[in-house]
Order: sequence, then C-alpha cells, then structure tokens
Amino acid sequence: MNHQSTNSDLPTDGAQNLAPSQNQSNLPIVETPDESNVKDTPATAATNTEASGIGESGAPRDLVNWGLQKFADQPIIMTSSFGMEGCALMDMCSKAIEEHQLPKLQIACIDTGFFFPETKQLRQKLIERYSNLEFLTWETSVSIEQQREMYGDMLWKNNPNMCCNIRKVKPMRENIVNYRLWITALRRTQTKDRSDISVLAWDWRYELMKFCPLATWTRAQVWDYIQENKVPFNQLHLQNYPSVSCFHCTRAVPGSNPQSEIRKGRWADSDKDECGLHFSI
Ligand code: SF4
Repeated sequence: MNHQSTNSDLPTDGAQNLAPSQNQSNLPIVETPDESNVKDTPATAATNTEASGIGESGAPRDLVNWGLQKFADQPIIMTSSFGMEGCALMDMCSKAIEEHQLPKLQIACIDTGFFFPETKQLRQKLIERYSNLEFLTWETSVSIEQQREMYGDMLWKNNPNMCCNIRKVKPMRENIVNYRLWITALRRTQTKDRSDISVLAWDWRYELMKFCPLATWTRAQVWDYIQENKVPFNQLHLQNYPSVSCFHCTRAVPGSNPQSEIRKGRWADSDKDECGLHFSI
C-alpha cells in the first residue's frame, strides 16, 4: 500500500495521508536493460549521453537540464531529506523546468516522524520558493507508538538498521514503483559505498534508472552553489551539523562547518553510515 501525502505540513505523530494507487499498467515503460548487460549499463548510458555532448563528467546544471528533458515523458521522482545537496539539486531542477517549460517535478521526502524542527522549517521555505516543484511526503504505516509497542522505546538505538528499514526503506519500496527515473543528490565523496556511483545507471533494487547529477561534486562546490544562488538550507549546518537526518541519530560535530565532508555526525556511536535507501544494510 502506498503511504504518500502532498500536504505542506509535515506530520509529527505518524499520521498518514493515503494517496490512491496509480495504475502501473498505464505507466510509460523505460526500456529495461538485459540482465547480461548489467555491468555495461553505466558505460552505455554515459556513451549515449556523450553523443548529446554530455556525459559522466558533465557539470551538474548541464546534466539536470539534459536529464529532465530526456525523461520528460516518464514519471520522475526526486527523493530528499533536505540535506544541503538536495537543496542545491532542487534549485537546479527548478531552473531547468522553468527554462525548458517542463512539467512539475515531484520531490518525495520520507518522513520518519523524527525530523528536527529546522528541517520542517526548511521544507516550508522550499515549498514557498519553488512553485514548479511538488513536494510529497512518504511515510511508514507503522506509527511511532506502534513501533514503541512492538520493539521498545529506543529501536533507533538498539537496532538502527531495523528502525531505518521500517521508517525509510519500506515506504521507499512501496512508493517508488510508480516511477521510472529516480533523481538523488548523492556524491561520490560522501561515503565509501558512494565512491563509485554512476551519474546515470539502472538500479536493480528498485528497477528504475537512477540519476545522480551531483556525483562528481565536492561538499565545497555544493556550498558555493548554495551561497551563489541563495538557496535555502538547513540552519543546523551553521551549528556544526554537517549532515542532518533524524534527531535521534544526528549529532553536532565540533569544528565542522557547512563545507565539511564529514558524515560522522550520523549514527555517531556506530559504524553505520548508510540508512539503507541506497545500499543494503
Ligand atoms: S536515522 Fe535513526 S531514527 Fe531515523 S529511521 Fe534511521 S535509525 Fe530510525
């Protein structure tokens, strides 16, 4: 069952707004690569884009312009938890949509119910600024109270992988089936697992194309873009939070600043550095 809402106010109590399921049989089909070509898919995609004068090393703005036009007749979703990278990418997408008269882009936030107030304020600012982006909320069917009854008060501490699976991965799986292109703001220097991500590749976990226009950028480049384009960003980045997720699992990192590549403020007491949305945990 899909759990998705388009309300502008993030629920804080696990309440859900259910959207009617889309008829998948009516969805346009993106050609699925033959399984024997899995390893070739990123290279093939790069070759094809190079024919258009753009490729894996393309500038993010150019990649966004290309991708949104190339897939304009397909259902596209961008997911974001409103990190600095996501905000920069939303700005690029909004500008491309305006310049090329493209359809509104849907931005899905997976609301765990544990967002900082600053994150909710940022979401509202983004809604007000970007009228050509449509903000959706995806969330688990398991309320915080139900999770507490089933697994105790601190699942996020005792079994963070299970908590992330319930509150992030499950709603992601339920909703992303409706799309054919998934845009994310991942960068290669964020974590070890992300070090070799492709700009454009087939994603076998969710069976759609995954597009990461910021893959080659550093954190400093993202911060420069945010500053130059006056993009709203999470004010916690100015309070030593390099990366922001749920308040249970995010800590300030003394000495860090908005340009810091550090991600260790997330799950600070463990080796965990991925929530499971992009890589298996
Ligand atoms: S980041 Fe922490 S609180 Fe949020 S879903 Fe994962 S384990 Fe749970």
